[in-house]
Amino acid sequence: MATIQGVCGPIDTGELGFTLMHEHVIVASLAMRKAFPDWMDREQTVERAVRELRAVQERGVRTLVDLTPINLGRDVALIREVAERAEMQIVAATGFYWTEEPWMEAWDHETLTRYLVRDLEQGIQGTPIRAGIIKCATDRQGVTDLNRKLLEVTARAHRRSGAPISTHTSVAHRTGLAQQDVFEAEGVDLARVVIGHCGDSEDLDYLEQILRRGSTLGMDRFGIDIILPTKQRVATIAELCKRGFAGQLVLSHDASCHIDFFPRELVKKTVPHWNFLHIPNDVVPALADAGVSDAQIEQMTSGNPRRIFERQGSY
Ligand SMILES: [Zn+2]
Repeated sequence: MATIQGVCGPIDTGELGFTLMHEHVIVASLAMRKAFPDWMDREQTVERAVRELRAVQERGVRTLVDLTPINLGRDVALIREVAERAEMQIVAATGFYWTEEPWMEAWDHETLTRYLVRDLEQGIQGTPIRAGIIKCATDRQGVTDLNRKLLEVTARAHRRSGAPISTHTSVAHRTGLAQQDVFEAEGVDLARVVIGHCGDSEDLDYLEQILRRGSTLGMDRFGIDIILPTKQRVATIAELCKRGFAGQLVLSHDASCHIDFFPRELVKKTVPHWNFLHIPNDVVPALADAGVSDAQIEQMTSGNPRRIFERQGSY
């Protein structure tokens, strides 16, 4: 048994239960919110988030991992408020997104690592609320010099704190393997890493290569049918389970209660199933129909999240 850091305090890993491993309460630029107070209606957003999290809790979900990185508008006070009011266990993240920013260039590894460790060990944004996981991201540009530095900083914060790593990748550019290369060179136990957005891929050869190195795959964009429809995502998971990998898969949507990348109406129209309820309501029954056993579903939704958060090895 171990405890990890949730936004409302420590959580016993035995209490995690059904866990959505990659979601966001909100994704909204802090710079834009500061510059334009009407960029996001905070009160309305919080109300909607509380409603949505209560609904998903009624469907058996007990924990949500909010993987919003620092520079994608992470707002830990808002996350905490939503968690308290919805009575949902939420784990917040530290770490950086893949987009490059001017301040990333000149600061050395040690300085950036210390900032992440502060989030993990002392608290985020001047609060005592601690991060419980480290997010990092590599997209279509691949591992550039700057991206390598961010991945190395992630690895060092992980080794210092013991918190697991969870990533964003581009399956079209097979960046999961490149991330594993960097982590391995930094001495990271790849079993403590979730390679994210693997559910966007049907390339079983690519997925198996990542799995054979010990990491867990984030099958974590259920509902984004314009990238890959649910039916194909389910078929890929069923095949991986058949090949014996149920112990290395986690499920999620990468959804949010509010995202400022697109107008809300457009999101509702183009990806109508992109919300926290899709997995408990539609995906779990579809997996069962595809031959995935109840024990395997339990493993992917509860057992594997627990294992990832519990420390292994000697940090
Ligand atoms: Zn995400």
